[in-house]
This record gives sequence, structure tokens and C-alpha cells, in this order.
Amino acid sequence: MTIDTNVNNTTDAIAAQAEKRLFEAKSNDSEQGLLQAENGAVTVPFGAKYGGRAARAKLREHAILSTTKIGGSIAAIYWMFAYGSGWVEWSAFLVGYFLSMVGCIVGYHRYFSHRTFETSKPMGIFIAILTQSAAQGSALHWAANHRRHHAMTDKVGDAHSPHFDGYGKPLKGFMKFHHSHVGWLFDRTTTDLSIYGKGLVDDEIVMFAHRTRWFWYFVSAIVFPALWALAFAGPEAIIGTILIAGFLRIFAVLTVLQSVNSVCHMFGSQRFHDHGTAKNNLLINILTMGDGWHNNHHQHPRSATSGLTWWEFDPCAGIIRLWEKMGLVWNVKWAPRYTKDENGEWVPEKPKAAAKQAA
Ligand SMILES: [Zn+2]
Ligand SMILES: [Zn+2]
Repeated sequence: MTIDTNVNNTTDAIAAQAEKRLFEAKSNDSEQGLLQAENGAVTVPFGAKYGGRAARAKLREHAILSTTKIGGSIAAIYWMFAYGSGWVEWSAFLVGYFLSMVGCIVGYHRYFSHRTFETSKPMGIFIAILTQSAAQGSALHWAANHRRHHAMTDKVGDAHSPHFDGYGKPLKGFMKFHHSHVGWLFDRTTTDLSIYGKGLVDDEIVMFAHRTRWFWYFVSAIVFPALWALAFAGPEAIIGTILIAGFLRIFAVLTVLQSVNSVCHMFGSQRFHDHGTAKNNLLINILTMGDGWHNNHHQHPRSATSGLTWWEFDPCAGIIRLWEKMGLVWNVKWAPRYTKDENGEWVPEKPKAAAKQAA
């Protein structure tokens, strides 16, 4: 077991590079934070790109994903009222929700973005399939965007900040929530993979996830619910189960995940005060099965758990711990437990061996 007491990771080096560029830009009287002029008129922050094929692909992908998920969810609600629904549809919903949420938290987030643990190729492929079953775009872009979020949290250049849009313009009122929740997916900026894609573009598991992502969306939204309906009911249950346990479930998982970017940067409590607006939020933690302790996560981004005290439950960390015990994953990074010192400050608990030595 590795105790990750060092909050720094590679994203800090990138952040330092961006700060340096920002300083240079300010010294040259450039507009604050807008460092790369492209396309003549549009400027975007360091680490972002504007327009071109990447932006067209991003817009196309999220247009297809959103249309199908929202269209399928509206049809699911109509179906519930018109034809009703029962345990077959909702048991498939719950099982699918669990699997896709594990894919999001353990896959997209902890494995691909933060490299919380190492694993074998077959296990990596299994995690990639779970990840893409949530259909939130490819693991490659998800992880690169997320690394940019950590490197530039709440600053110009954050991929989905409630403070600045993709071009570095300050946000106000409802647009703060809108941009960090969903708006950022529909502007013409993309994350520069030459900066944030290191260790991703050359990783065969990441590229497997990237290339096969539409197939796993199809399996997750159509094949899995259809087979579930056939196994536990009959052909007449197929359409309802696809709509409810396929599209509506994937849309629910997406909404909860997007809330980590929006709600967890607006509402909740803060234990650590060096990470902008990142907050711990109990409701989001329940719904994400462990990723709602987002302030903790910004303190220890590479940790396999975001719970830092005995009562901060993190079911996805429990899954990683089980896999670690089974020998399926290794070199897992665990944040230390925290406790309050005599001044009421949160401090890491001393590892038992060190505490004994000190005694
Ligand atoms: Zn965050
Ligand atoms: Zn993270």
C-alpha cells in the first residue's frame, strides 16, 4: 500500500508553466490570461485550443450524445406514464447505474485521469469498457479535460470553471452553474493534448477506450437492457427497458457526474482552503458512490479514496481496495487519514509505525 502524502502531481508542473506564461503575457500588456491568439481574433487560455477539426469533432460528439440521451430520456418518461414500468426496468436501471458509475469514478476519474493504481492489460480493458458504458465521450478527452481542471482550478484555463468560460471571460449568475455543468461541452475550445495528453495518447488502453467508445455506448444503452428484458420478462419489455435502463439511466449518471463540476464547486463545505471553490458535498457523494468529497479530492488528487476520515464513506474506494486485495490492481495510492489537532486544525494522522517510533 502506498500512502500518498504529497499533494503535488504532474498537473502542478503544468499549472506552474501556465502561471509563468500568464505572468509573461501580463508583462507584455496582453489581455489578462488570454495567451494564445488563434484564428486572428479569438484568444484562448494556455492549455486550450480554438476551433479546427478537434472542436468540430467535440461539438459533433456531444450533440449526438446529448440528443440521444435526452431524446431517449423524454421517451422513457412518456413510456412510464403511457405503459407503466416495473421491477424488470428498474432493476436493470440500478445495476446499469452501479456499473456505469463505477466506470466513471474508478475508470474515467481515478484510473485514466489520475493513475491512482496500476493494473494488467485485461483488467485495464475491463475498466475501459465499464468507463465507456457511461458514454461521456472518450476516456482520452475526459482525462485530458480533467487534468486541465486540476492544473488550473478556478483560474483562466480551467476546463469547466464556474468563474471563467472557455475563452477566459468571467461568468456571472446562472451562467456560473450552466457553464461548469454543461455549457463547456458546447463551446469551440478543446484541451491541448500536447500538454494534457501525455501518458494518454500513447497508452493503448486509453486509445482502445477512445476508438471503441460508440460500440460500448450501443451495448450499454441497447444490448444490455434488451438482454435483461429478455432474461427476466419477454420481448414485450425490451423497448421500455431500453428507454428506462438504457437512455434514462445513462442520462442520470451523466447529470450526477456533471454535478461534481458544478455543484461541488458551488455548494458544500471546505476542509482545505488552497483549492479554489472545491467543496465536499454529501448528496453528490451518495449519488456518485464516493466522488462528492471533492474538496478532499483536490487536496489528494491521486488518492484512491476521497474520504479522509472514518465517516467519509467512499464505496468506489472500497471496490479499488477489494481489487487490490485480490491482486487485480497494485501500487494503489492512498491518502492519509486526517484528524483534528489540539488547535482544531485538520492534519494527517501519523502512520502507525511512525507514531510508535515517535512515542
Ligand atoms: Zn474540481
Ligand atoms: Zn480529479
